[in-house]
Amino acid sequence: MDKYLKAAYLEAVKGLDEGGIPIGSVLVHEPTGKIIGRGHNRRMQQGSAILHAEMDAVESAGHLSAAVYRECIIYTTLSPCSMCSGMILLYRIPKVVIGENENFQGEEDLLKSRGVEVRVVNDPQCKALMPRFIAENPELWNEDIDGDAFPVLLLLGQPMRIDADAVVKIGDLVMQIITEFLCVLTQTFKSTDQLF
Ligand SMILES: [Zn+2]
Repeated sequence: MDKYLKAAYLEAVKGLDEGGIPIGSVLVHEPTGKIIGRGHNRRMQQGSAILHAEMDAVESAGHLSAAVYRECIIYTTLSPCSMCSGMILLYRIPKVVIGENENFQGEEDLLKSRGVEVRVVNDPQCKALMPRFIAENPELWNEDIDGDAFPVLLLLGQPMRIDADAVVKIGDLVMQIITEFLCVLTQTFKSTDQLF
């Protein structure tokens, strides 16, 4: 692992230690070789809607001139989502180095189609970060990446947090109602038969 990806990885580990989603990122100014921004996913820690690792890293660099962004490389331990890819396009950061894209593949094609140089390292240490976290916190992961993971939320028509166990329980309840309805229906037909 090169030193910049290592720095992003250490940010991810910091996030994990804080009870957050272990994704880290650094912004590197290529001509000077300096890390000018560091960050990790802090959605859980900050109760934030937007603090993904890449957003946090670029935010930590403060306000930079447009020319500086265009000389930067952003390193991230996991393939960047559509929000972070949008930010990369907005600031015209020309290069993205991705630790891994097996646990999640973001908008790499979009970035490439807009002329961004994308390099996927497939680093085993980066790959090992997410599986344990996803296994232990599936609801946090789904909430972070895929808002449509629980369609039951749409049926209820209101935003609310719901965990995987609750979804299973609601599923069981619906099955129970259907089964009981079928039983009642069967009984009704039986009694009708008896009448005629
Ligand atoms: Zn993101």
